[in-house]
Amino acid sequence: MYEPVIGLEVHAELLTKSKMFCGCAVVDSTQAAPNTFTCPVCTAMPGVLPVINKHAVELAIMTGLALHCEIQTYNIFARKNYFYPDLPKGYQISQYDTPLAVNGYLEIETPSLATAGDGQGGGRKRIGIRRVHLEEDTGKLYHTAGASLVDYNRSGVPLMEIVSEPDLRSVEDVRAYAESLRAILRYLGVNSGDMEKGVIRFEANVSVRPVGSDELNTRTEIKNLNSFRALVRATEYEIARQSQLYARGEQLVQQTLGWDEGHGVTVPQRSKEYAEDYRYFPEPDLPPLVIAREWVDEVRAQLPELPDVKRARFEQEFGLSAYDADQLTRDKHVALYFEHAVESGGEPKAAANWILGELFRLMNEQNVGIEHVKIAPVHLAELTTLIANQTLSSTLAKEVFAEMWSTGQPPSDIVQAKGLAQISDTSQLQNVIAQVIRDHPKPVADYYAGKETIIKFLIGQAMRATKGKANPQLIAELMQQSLAAQK
Ligand code: ADP
Ligand code: MG
Ligand code: ZN
Repeated sequence: MYEPVIGLEVHAELLTKSKMFCGCAVVDSTQAAPNTFTCPVCTAMPGVLPVINKHAVELAIMTGLALHCEIQTYNIFARKNYFYPDLPKGYQISQYDTPLAVNGYLEIETPSLATAGDGQGGGRKRIGIRRVHLEEDTGKLYHTAGASLVDYNRSGVPLMEIVSEPDLRSVEDVRAYAESLRAILRYLGVNSGDMEKGVIRFEANVSVRPVGSDELNTRTEIKNLNSFRALVRATEYEIARQSQLYARGEQLVQQTLGWDEGHGVTVPQRSKEYAEDYRYFPEPDLPPLVIAREWVDEVRAQLPELPDVKRARFEQEFGLSAYDADQLTRDKHVALYFEHAVESGGEPKAAANWILGELFRLMNEQNVGIEHVKIAPVHLAELTTLIANQTLSSTLAKEVFAEMWSTGQPPSDIVQAKGLAQISDTSQLQNVIAQVIRDHPKPVADYYAGKETIIKFLIGQAMRATKGKANPQLIAELMQQSLAAQK
């Protein structure tokens, strides 16, 4: 039996207005015409000088703090030299031996209990963060039939690399880590999380070892995984491949691999490159970046509430289950939506149920993000009140909700326009029941003869007579009373 050992390197583009070392705008590479947002600096004309983007540094500090890292005071940028057509300078400015943030962790919900037995319990475990550093993105290559084209709009876009310790022990861990990290970056507003636009890219370092061993075995590195699905599938494949190879008594070669999505296999790209291959040396055109403690403190003071803290607070403050609190805090905008609904007077548990139930169902079905949902949080709050004060039964509430979803109207307007309010008026319901009893002598006789379940039919008839608007509990009670009284 083999145990997987995985460490992830994550590249995330930062949400700055301008590039890392020049004034060019950062644009959506899927929207802008190629090579329209470039300048002599990001296209590496001779004699140009880079200038560090302060906002990018700030976003990296935020990320480091959110991941419980130490922020290093003294930062040196380095040149990482290699040749590739998407890299006009022939080197990338990156951080090498002085990363901006080190020694942090990210807590995940893990099913791999084999390693969760470290006193943290509850299936939660800490994945070490080795480093967070700043660098710049490359251009983008497009391979067409007769030629390869290059777009330098992305050259020099601020990029953050987040490197984990090899603490992940299953593909479930990998998924949980990648999803939590994306959520945190979105909470912080440092990255949009738009995976389909390539703003987050993963590299998985994978090895396996005999269960019980605590050595780090030879690993392979799978590059350029652009979706959770690719990350999980590639890691899964590589774990199986390595395990089978060892089972046959073969040795693993340390290698850099690519992922062939179509065939579902990893493919060797090149033998593993080592740091010395890159001829790293300090970037001579940039002074050391010194991050004052005061600056770190300022950034810390501005950190938003992060998913972990929010989840715990939702449980405590609103009495939500751990599961519901987790579901509501995975995405920042969902969490804010829920909070707005509660602030506008919504009953917390009911609001949570509507969001996690009907709202998510419709969002999934129609592929709508929470930002584009027409139902305002205040209207959801109002709906929970209409249910609590018995104006709406749960069946009617669903009908009203569907209308709110498609029109964005407040529930009270819908109730009024459609005459949907629940009937809780006792004398009105008693009249209806009396009529039902008169109209159905046979079922009534059966009821008195001992066939008590037939009362469901009679209640159903009364419900129908009110077009489903009768308060269901009340009508059941009244029906029972009327039958008992007449006997
Ligand atoms: P490099 O700079 O060559 O990519 P690092 O030593 O910085 O290598 O590690 C990169 C990533 O590989 C880290 O996420 C680390 O956790 C992971 N890693 C290192 N050794 C192993 C191993 N034996 N198995 C799995 N992952 C590993
Ligand atoms: Mg690597
Ligand atoms: Zn530029």
